[in-house]
Amino acid sequence: MKLLKLFTLFSILNIGCVFSQEIIIKNAKIINVEKGIVEGSRNIYIENGLIKKITYTNNKLNNNAKVIDANGNYIMPGFIESHVHVAIGAVKLKFENKKPFLAVDLIDEIPDLTLKLMLSNGITSARDPGGLTEVTVRTKNNVESGKLLGPELFVAGNILDTLKFENLTTQIKTHKDIIDEINNQKKKGVDFIKLYTSLSPEQLEVGINHARKIGLKSISHLHTTSWTEAAKLKLDNIVHIIPGNERLLPKDKRKEYLKYANLGAIAFYKWFEYVDLESKEISEMIKALKDNNVSVDPTLVPFHSAFFGDTGNYQSQESLKYLPKPLLENWKTTFNFNLGWKAKDYEIAHKVWPKVEQLVRMLHKNGIMLTAGTDANNPYMVPGFSYHQELQLLKKCGLSNQEVLKIAIINGAKLLGIENKVGKVKKGYQADLIILKENPLEDITNTSSVYKVIVNGKSYEKEDILNELKRN
Ligand SMILES: [Zn+2]
Repeated sequence: MKLLKLFTLFSILNIGCVFSQEIIIKNAKIINVEKGIVEGSRNIYIENGLIKKITYTNNKLNNNAKVIDANGNYIMPGFIESHVHVAIGAVKLKFENKKPFLAVDLIDEIPDLTLKLMLSNGITSARDPGGLTEVTVRTKNNVESGKLLGPELFVAGNILDTLKFENLTTQIKTHKDIIDEINNQKKKGVDFIKLYTSLSPEQLEVGINHARKIGLKSISHLHTTSWTEAAKLKLDNIVHIIPGNERLLPKDKRKEYLKYANLGAIAFYKWFEYVDLESKEISEMIKALKDNNVSVDPTLVPFHSAFFGDTGNYQSQESLKYLPKPLLENWKTTFNFNLGWKAKDYEIAHKVWPKVEQLVRMLHKNGIMLTAGTDANNPYMVPGFSYHQELQLLKKCGLSNQEVLKIAIINGAKLLGIENKVGKVKKGYQADLIILKENPLEDITNTSSVYKVIVNGKSYEKEDILNELKRN
């Protein structure tokens, strides 16, 4: 039961800075994500990793340039993954003085592998919202220096929580502990601070305010503190569409829910079983999020994989062949979101999934900024491949294909604070571009037809990156 109570999610990525010759993509049909239209045909000139100019196809091409003919294909900005953990491995239960606690067993090959799987799937920027500071920051720096190939990374470090989780959390007790740890992470080079589920509103407030004071934004996976309370404290970003706090439920359901509230994934679906999305509690929550400009990173795919774990669809994905065996073995035997679930659990979980979709739709319609994240490297979330699943799940919430692409790219760039240089096919913007065989404005599943990725002034074939990886 202790194991059920705790798990989570994390990650990271970045890109090198070694520029080479000029690249010209000719005959490009450009997908304008903001307007939801296809513009074409154009020549895109890339130099030193930037889009230098965009012209009509009859312009004369420079003879020394590397020319990519995109005739018949589509070009768009690269995807932005807002939730991937590069410093997570197998999750195990350990004991200290007979007391149980969770621990991450790091797996050395995961950071590099995660970066390549993401890049090959068209992700050119990514956020790791929490993991061992040394690993997340090192991976970010290695991408930046060109030592590792992958999307540009923005990272949080150790997650601040009151509970021990070896190689993942820094266990805090006092307000001074919170301030010291945030200062320590800032010195090491993190971009965000991650505040975790067991923190009280008072502890959260200390963390949010101190992070802001030294120029860092706060991310939180909430449970003990409600979304409404955290929004009023001006938290920047909430991760996971599982509010999980009893004070957001109708008064007569709270006592019943509290019997399940500490049972991990069972609490996920129980909260949705009891919530009334038309209630005063939920409308107050949405108003607080809106008034305080809080964004939400739903990460639908890990919850969908749990709620529909009985279908076996996620356990049989072909892309699992790229992941290290110890990690797959860990998910099969020890760590997964369905620990202890019986037929009855799945039955209710299936029934409440439309309420999860409804909450996403309500947040979107009320102008809460959503982003696209997957919690990759948690059970059955394969980096890169799971991103396309997340986009399909967002679409099923009742959003248009264009709205999903805006969430993925435009909102993703805003979340990372890079919207003035990333997320558009436009002169002066970073040439973080992907070439796709099919148009995702017509069918969102076409995002996975990406076959070429351009980052840092170099182009890569999806298949070339994947072919170099070891397979099970
Ligand atoms: Zn996570």
